[in-house]
Amino acid sequence: MPQADETRAAGPRRTAFDWTEAEARRRAQAGLVRTLRPREAVSDLLDLAGNDYLGLTRHPEVTAAAADAARRWGAGSTGSRLVTGTTALHTRLERELAAFCGFEAALVFSSGYTANLAALTALGGRDSLVVSDAANHASIVDGCRLARAETAVVPHADPEAVRKTLEAHPGRRALVVSDSVFSVDGDKAPLTALAGACRAHGAGLVVDDAHGFGVLGDGGRGALHEAGLAGDPDVVATLTLSKSLGSQGGAVLGPARVIEHLVNAARTFIFDTGLAPAATGGALAALRLIEAAPRLAEQVRTVATTLHGRLTEAGLTAARPDAAVVSVRAPSPEAALRWAADCRELGLMVGCFRPPSVPDGISRLRLTARADLSAADVERAVGTVLRTAPEGA
Ligand code: PMP
Repeated sequence: MPQADETRAAGPRRTAFDWTEAEARRRAQAGLVRTLRPREAVSDLLDLAGNDYLGLTRHPEVTAAAADAARRWGAGSTGSRLVTGTTALHTRLERELAAFCGFEAALVFSSGYTANLAALTALGGRDSLVVSDAANHASIVDGCRLARAETAVVPHADPEAVRKTLEAHPGRRALVVSDSVFSVDGDKAPLTALAGACRAHGAGLVVDDAHGFGVLGDGGRGALHEAGLAGDPDVVATLTLSKSLGSQGGAVLGPARVIEHLVNAARTFIFDTGLAPAATGGALAALRLIEAAPRLAEQVRTVATTLHGRLTEAGLTAARPDAAVVSVRAPSPEAALRWAADCRELGLMVGCFRPPSVPDGISRLRLTARADLSAADVERAVGTVLRTAPEGA
């Protein structure tokens, strides 16, 4: 044991993670520190920051189904899907999700993130080519890396670039992967043109419909249904259960043989604990509510269009929303952060996107529409965003 004065003489002990302090200083200097802030269970804040697009996360039928599932099956699923982690709720949700969206089969995952990793690693592979939109979600970027495929990142929403890339690799097994609705600006991918390029070159198309499901297509059946691509033998969809379905988890939808392949080859399916029964039961109840209320999808789109119209009429810059996301430009990361904080002071929660989460370095306020917002809520949100808008916005 060193004596106390010996320890003091040696100075504070150096540890393996001292280097993180230099990183923290760099983040602070750039104004890019992220902090966790627990929200209140019950609050007067108006929430336009979450992804509960259809307002179902607190729907009494959804929370009751989640609670019932936990009581009946336990708080956890107890094991991986292939061992003990599959309940009747999982298989029911898979059957009903596939049927609702117009696909042959579906497979439920513990998150949308692991669903994307599964689709890309099991359908990509060392010898294949993956063509990925530059604005794709981080989980797709990670899926491409994990697949160890040759990845060609093409300019955002550019089907011609996709076509040329596929043309340059004749006879190669290939996948094209895109978000259906991009999470930063809320714009839609050119799905029909992408599918055309895939068909011409025998490539598979993987579409992450995290932001399209529940919002786009007939009754919320999603962007692929809207584009007439649901059930196409060359098309696979990935979903999260955490946005329109108000729960937690993910899914892959596609031809039965593709789903069968994922069960046998996707490591994030095989080695991950199955989705918790409460999340599964909650998602299933939400899906049934969406089926019973096809107007929800239209309502959320109307709210998004109204928000966008009111904010741009007043002089703010925002891309026209194709789904529920309304993204408003901010003059700088610091201004975006202050703007979001000022909104919160006035009772409105909005998202704030800053580098490195924005592909073009432009910071934004991100407002998400919800089907259950009243006209008064929308007015209050618009008034607050305008009142707090920084110089140069
Ligand atoms: N894809 C997209 C486009 C997303 O926005 C998200 C979630 N933010 C995910 C995938 C990941 O889904 P999850 O949160 O269920 O892991």
